[in-house]
Amino acid sequence: MHFSRRTLLAGAAAMVATPSLASSKANVVASTGMIADMVRTIGGAGVEVKALMGPGVDPHAYRQTRSDIVDMTRADATFWHGLYLEAQMEEFMLDLGTKRPVHAVAESVDTDLLIGSEDYENRFDPHIWMDPDLWVKCVPAVVQALTALRPNDRELFETNASAFIAEAEALSVYNRAVLEAVPEPARVLLTAHDAFGYFGGAYDFEVMGIQGISTESEAGLNRISTLVDMLVARQLPAVFVETSVSDRNIRALIEGAAAQGHTVIIGGALFSDAMGPDGTYEGTWLGMIDHNVTSIARALGADVPATGRLGRLKGAA
Ligand code: ZN
Repeated sequence: MHFSRRTLLAGAAAMVATPSLASSKANVVASTGMIADMVRTIGGAGVEVKALMGPGVDPHAYRQTRSDIVDMTRADATFWHGLYLEAQMEEFMLDLGTKRPVHAVAESVDTDLLIGSEDYENRFDPHIWMDPDLWVKCVPAVVQALTALRPNDRELFETNASAFIAEAEALSVYNRAVLEAVPEPARVLLTAHDAFGYFGGAYDFEVMGIQGISTESEAGLNRISTLVDMLVARQLPAVFVETSVSDRNIRALIEGAAAQGHTVIIGGALFSDAMGPDGTYEGTWLGMIDHNVTSIARALGADVPATGRLGRLKGAA
């Protein structure tokens, strides 16, 4: 491919003055699927994006492999989430950033909009992709970083960014409408770890995770029995598993509630910190959020179509 391109250029040398580099794509690496999705959407035809973490991969626990290191060292730029989401990669990324263009995309958002950590000062809940209104605040940083790589494509990036923001706004409107259809006492989201704090804030849901905002610390038995008592007392109908976290704790909750005579179902497998399979609608950020919101709304009693906002969902409960 590269060879034939050079041959072609050589043949037309008299007419083509610009180097072939000007028309090739920028090669960038992204850490999570959600970051890759945003960079890919805004970059369009100007950028080739490689995601390090695929479906089902937990970013709190992920550590860069040898081939990831090679990819990032060779890339024109690396995009990661930041806010301590990729805790095991923190040191490597900060070091890489002293030598190569590295962008902590979520750290471009004003910290006044973020949820502070209860345990650490100057640490924030990183799960901002759960609220479309907040996630789009990362867009300007991505446009700026891509424009620095390819100044001639600025207009392309800005057009794609506007389209992305418009889709996110439509998603936000859908989310609000279907989640308002959940009966008020059932607006409680219980999941394996605390990935839904921004979701709860945006849609007025009470959210509880068995584990905290990172999956690194184990949940104690006390935590589980407190949540079981709460489930039973409030007669909640459903809890949720996550595709990137073990379902062991959620199953313990369900068994605990059953022992007290209350039946709780798994309301669905949510895409919390990773998207669905590559090449599917659920493997995009728009699709993952549609899947989550539609699954949550249906499991908690809202009468909304299983096929979601655009009629494209396959797996919503
Ligand atoms: Zn998480």
